[in-house]
Amino acid sequence: MATTEATESYRFQAEIKQLLDILVHSLYQDREIFLRELISNASDALTQMHFHMLTDRNVHDADADLAIRLSIIDKDDEKWLLVKDSGIGMTAEELIQNLGTIAQSGARAFLERVKQTDSSPGEIIGQFGVGFYSVFMVADLVRVVSRSHRLDAEPAAWVSQGDDSFRIEPAEKEERGTEIHIKLKNDAGEFASEWKLRETVKRHSDFVAYPIYLNDEQINQQQPIWRKSPSEVSQEDYHNFYQQMTMDFQEPITVIHFHSDAPVHIRALLFVPATRDRGVLAARKEPGLKLYSHNVLIQEYNRDLLPDWLNFVDGVVESEDLPLNVSRETVQSNRFMRQLGKTLRRRVVRDIKDLASDDDAKYAAFWKQHGRAIKEGILADPAGLQDVLPLLRYQSTALENELTSLADYLNRMHEDQEAIYYVMGDSMHSVSHSPHLDPFRARDIEVLYWIDPLDPFLAPLLNEYKDTPIKNVDDAGLELPDIEEVIDDEGEKLAEPDLNRFIGRCVTTLGDRVTEVRASRMLKTSPVRLVSPEDTPNREMQRIYRFLDQQYEVPKRILEINRGHPLIVDLARLVTAQPEAELINVAIEQLYESALVQEGLHPDPAKMVPRIERLLKLAAAAHAPGDTLG
Ligand code: ADP
Repeated sequence: MATTEATESYRFQAEIKQLLDILVHSLYQDREIFLRELISNASDALTQMHFHMLTDRNVHDADADLAIRLSIIDKDDEKWLLVKDSGIGMTAEELIQNLGTIAQSGARAFLERVKQTDSSPGEIIGQFGVGFYSVFMVADLVRVVSRSHRLDAEPAAWVSQGDDSFRIEPAEKEERGTEIHIKLKNDAGEFASEWKLRETVKRHSDFVAYPIYLNDEQINQQQPIWRKSPSEVSQEDYHNFYQQMTMDFQEPITVIHFHSDAPVHIRALLFVPATRDRGVLAARKEPGLKLYSHNVLIQEYNRDLLPDWLNFVDGVVESEDLPLNVSRETVQSNRFMRQLGKTLRRRVVRDIKDLASDDDAKYAAFWKQHGRAIKEGILADPAGLQDVLPLLRYQSTALENELTSLADYLNRMHEDQEAIYYVMGDSMHSVSHSPHLDPFRARDIEVLYWIDPLDPFLAPLLNEYKDTPIKNVDDAGLELPDIEEVIDDEGEKLAEPDLNRFIGRCVTTLGDRVTEVRASRMLKTSPVRLVSPEDTPNREMQRIYRFLDQQYEVPKRILEINRGHPLIVDLARLVTAQPEAELINVAIEQLYESALVQEGLHPDPAKMVPRIERLLKLAAAAHAPGDTLG
C-alpha cells in the first residue's frame, strides 16, 4: 500500500480482479447494462435516504431533491458521462469497503457461469447484476466522488482504471450523494449521445421510482405503473415492469392488477412467477410484497399482508390509508393492514381460481410450481378449505399425463358410483401397481393418485367434495357399485380346506404384525394386499411420521389373500403337502413386506434384500439338476 500525503492506494480483492479482467478485455453486445446497474445503485441510495429522513431529518443537505441526473461532458477529445444522485452517499471508509470487495451474489454467480460454460461472457452478462464494476465495460477511468449524509463526514473520491488497484483521495463536493464520473473508452463513445442514453434508460430503467434527468428533462416514466388504471397498461408494460423489478426473465404465469377504495384504499400489482425457486440472480431476494404509501416505499419485503402459503406472489401494494411515519412494528398491528391483507388474499385466490377454470395449460404450469403452496394453505387454514378445493389437481388412473380437478372427476363418475376414490403411496411407480386398484380396474372406476408427501396430511381434511364422500381404496369395508366386472379369471380357485390352512399359516407366521388374514373379494391380479381396518383412527398418521422420520411404527393392517392367484394357489398346496418346507415362511414374509412397500409403508425396503436372496437360492436349488459334480 503506497501512501502519499492524503492519497492511499488499495489492491482489489482477487475476485474483483477476475471480474474486471473479463469486463475490460471482452466485447459485449450487452454493455449498455452498466447504466442500468449504476441507476439501480443510485435508486437504492435514494430510497435509503428517503427512509432515513422519515424519522431523522438531521442530515447533510436535507432539502435536496431525490433524483438521478445524467450529463454528458466533452473535455477536449475525451468523452465523459456523469451519473449523479442525491442519495445516502458514502464516506471514505464506505468507498473502500463497498467498492473494493464483492458483496453481491450476482457477480459471483456470473464468474461461476463464465467458468462453466462455453458461451462468451457477452452473451450472458445482461442477465446478471454484476453491479458497479460493469462500468468498466465502457470506461477506462472512473472517479466516484461521494459525500455522505452524515453531518460529520468529509467528501471523498475513489479512482480506478479498472486494473488491479484503486485509490482514495480527498475531494470537494458540497451536495449530498454520489457522482460517478466515467471516462468513456474510445469505442464506447455512443454513450455520450443523448439519444443512446434516452433509449437505454427507457429500456432498462423506465419505472425507477425517482426522476432521472438528462439536461433538466425527465427521461423515465417514473409514474408507477400500479397507479395507472389496468385498462391503460399493456401486457408488455406489465412484463417490462416485472422484469425490471425482479430480474426474472421468464414471463409471470399471471398478473393481478386492481384498485379499490373500500373498505380500504388499495392499489396492487401482483405477479405469480413462472418458477418457484428464486435463482441466485433474482433481484428480489426474499418473499414479500413491496409496500408503499404516499409514494414512499415503507417496506421492501412485507410478509404480513398475504398468508405464508401465498408467499410465491411478488409485487407492489400501495395504500394511502397507512400513516406515513408507520414503523415496521406498527405495520403488523395496524387495523388497516389487516383489512388490506384480507382484500389482497381474497383477490389473489379469486384470480387463481379464474385461471384454474379458464386456462388449463396455464393452470397446469401454475400447479406444477405452486401446487404445494395451495396444499400448505389448506393445512395452515382449514377454515378456508372450501375456497381452495377447486384449485386441487391430481393424476389419475383415467388420464395419461393430464391432471384432473375434483369437479372433472365428478363428471366422469359412473352413474351409481357414490364416492371419489384415491390410492395413496410414495410414487406414481409404486401406486400404479397397487393391488387395491384391481377391483377398480375391473369395473373401470377412476382412482386418483395421492402421491404427494402432503397428501397424507390433507387426507383427514378432505372428507367430501360437493356432498360426494372421498375414500381411500385401502378401506376394508369398501362397497363398490354394482358395475359389471370384466371377468377374465379363468384360473382355478383354491379349495376351501387348502385356503383355510394357508390363512392359518399366514397368521402364525406374521403374528401380531397383522390384525387379520382373510380371503379377498376384490383382488384380481395381485396375490395379496393390506387394507386398513374400518375403525382405525388417524390412519394417515403413520405415513406422516414416516415422512417426518419420527419414530415410525409399521401400522397393523388386514392381509387379504387372492385365492385365485397362481402364486397363492401353489403356495397353499405346498402348505398342505409339505408343511415343513422352508420356502413357505420366507415367501409369506416376503409377500407381506412387498405389500408394505406397495403401500409406501415399509420403513426400510433395503432390509428385504437378504430374504430375497434366500428366495432366489431356494428357487435355484429347486431347479438345479441333481448332483452334477458327481
Ligand atoms: P450491489 O449494489 O449489488 O450491492 P455494487 O457492486 O453495485 O453491488 O455496489 C456495491 C455497494 O456500493 C452497494 O451495495 C452500495 O453500498 C455501494 N454503492 C454503490 N453505488 C452507490 C451509490 N450511488 N450511492 C451509495 N452507495 C452506493
